[in-house]
Amino acid sequence: MSRREVPTPELRCSRCHTELQRFWGYCPSCGRRLEWKDTQRETNAECAYCGWIVSDAASFCPWCGRNIQDEDSSDEPLKAPKGFKFHRRCEWGCGGGVMYPMRFCPWCGRAQTWKYEDFQNVCPHCDRGVDDWMATCPWCGEDATGRDLIPRALRRARRLLIVSRIRDWHYRVALRPGVSGVAPRAPKVIELDRRYVTGKRRRDEISWNMLTGLLLHELGHSFLYHHWSWTRSGRFRRAFGEVRKAYRVADEHWVDFERRRIATTLTDYVSAYAATHPQEDFAETFRFYVARRGRLRELFSEFGRKRKGVRVYEKFLVLHDYVRSLRGWK
Ligand SMILES: [Zn+2]
Ligand SMILES: [Zn+2]
Ligand SMILES: [Zn+2]
Ligand SMILES: [Zn+2]
Repeated sequence: MSRREVPTPELRCSRCHTELQRFWGYCPSCGRRLEWKDTQRETNAECAYCGWIVSDAASFCPWCGRNIQDEDSSDEPLKAPKGFKFHRRCEWGCGGGVMYPMRFCPWCGRAQTWKYEDFQNVCPHCDRGVDDWMATCPWCGEDATGRDLIPRALRRARRLLIVSRIRDWHYRVALRPGVSGVAPRAPKVIELDRRYVTGKRRRDEISWNMLTGLLLHELGHSFLYHHWSWTRSGRFRRAFGEVRKAYRVADEHWVDFERRRIATTLTDYVSAYAATHPQEDFAETFRFYVARRGRLRELFSEFGRKRKGVRVYEKFLVLHDYVRSLRGWK
């Protein structure tokens, strides 16, 4: 007789039908709090505190960490009691086995950490794995993108795009560890290095003006990828050059983004960073254009005072005309 297979429970959110992984704490789409009970009668035991499936043999709930020891609890730490799998030993060396993604060891009750290699990003609130499509972190229930940590810069950038008459291209902002930028394969995802927000340089040290500047710069990259065919036009290439040129830049230019004044050092570029690559040139042009609300007259009078070359004017005109053409203006 073959072993009877336990039917897989429907792993979908009962409210929004998003596909879930077992033992996520929250639905990543609608944020609903999830409860993983013993619906399949695998262990015949649920934690009296959190209601999630537990083993009778356990001394601690692996989900909420509370002490659930009773006469059924095993005297010895076990490897994998009925209903649970063995993925590795407890990281504290108690000898018991733990299953992904248990938060606590069922035998000694100490917190467990996991590698979240299958995820695209790290939650800025709890450091566990999240994917870019997620609105809510499935582990801690906070905003998975970290946008809640930079509301002021986001509001300001959104407002500036509107007054500059640049239509929303449905970009998404997400905080990432160790990197700011936009990848060509995901042109609508704006990555902001989370160390500006959550790391050693705290929010009070990094001004929100700098964050807004960085955001506008990265939005420039995203905008360009989104309208990539435009970069093939003769006028664009004469103004900015060949944007397909390969390049690598260190991510140490963040101070530049705080500068809201146009640099006086280079005649043909708005900032020193703009001179590093045609794509950076465009992103910096975009940043200044949007930060000044698309007001060319103001910008041009400043260029005059700073003795900027004709090429700088042309870059802004190319962008200005393109933005207008997208809105169907003549
Ligand atoms: Zn849901
Ligand atoms: Zn519990
Ligand atoms: Zn343990
Ligand atoms: Zn989280």
